[in-house]
Amino acid sequence: MTNIILLGPPGAGKGTQARQLVESRGMVQLSTGDMLREAQAAGSEMGKKVAEVIARGELVTDDIVIGLIREKIAEGAEGGFIFDGFPRTLGQADALGELLAEMGLTLDAVIEMAVDDGALVARITGRSTCGGCGEVYHDQTKPWPADGKCGNCGSSDVKRRADDNEESLKTRLMEYYKKTSPLLGYYYAKGDLRSVDGLQAMEAVAADIAAVLEA
Ligand code: AMP
Repeated sequence: MTNIILLGPPGAGKGTQARQLVESRGMVQLSTGDMLREAQAAGSEMGKKVAEVIARGELVTDDIVIGLIREKIAEGAEGGFIFDGFPRTLGQADALGELLAEMGLTLDAVIEMAVDDGALVARITGRSTCGGCGEVYHDQTKPWPADGKCGNCGSSDVKRRADDNEESLKTRLMEYYKKTSPLLGYYYAKGDLRSVDGLQAMEAVAADIAAVLEA
């Protein structure tokens, strides 16, 4: 069983690669962003509380996301966990270490998906996902089929995130550099950090991640 973190700025391709790993290796994707959006869609108290923070592109408090992750880790995952978009602060990183230790689990690798900022704006402002199956599309690089139906599941539910606009992205990038990028040093010092070039084609990134997991 392998447990990994995918680390990188918004738009680096963490979600896309996590989906691939779920399919190819039977791992379980734990995306705190997805969990928070689900809470919002369900109209829960917590969902309402975080809606504005997410729309602005700021981070929600550590206790909320740590609580979400704690519940999911307790459910277990035979194929291992992919932490996608978590941890995002040093406090979350410490908490994850403790949660894994409590469950007798180890962290096998932290994979940095390195990309340059210029690419992120273009990637994020054009992206959409299928509401039926979560397949990721992009207006320029992977447009929806001409009939408007998802090539994977046939749904025509095109979802665009409210925070995928240039204004929120500026805040999300600032949050990343201020609060999340210190995790690169944190995990490097622990000897867990591996880096892949996230600007390559999706398949090439997937191959590099597979090589890290096999090493
Ligand atoms: P994502 O889908 O990972 O881009 O996350 C979308 C938004 O959810 C972020 O911009 C934050 O507002 C919030 N969020 C997701 N994960 C976390 C986290 N680990 N810590 C704090 N806020 C988070």
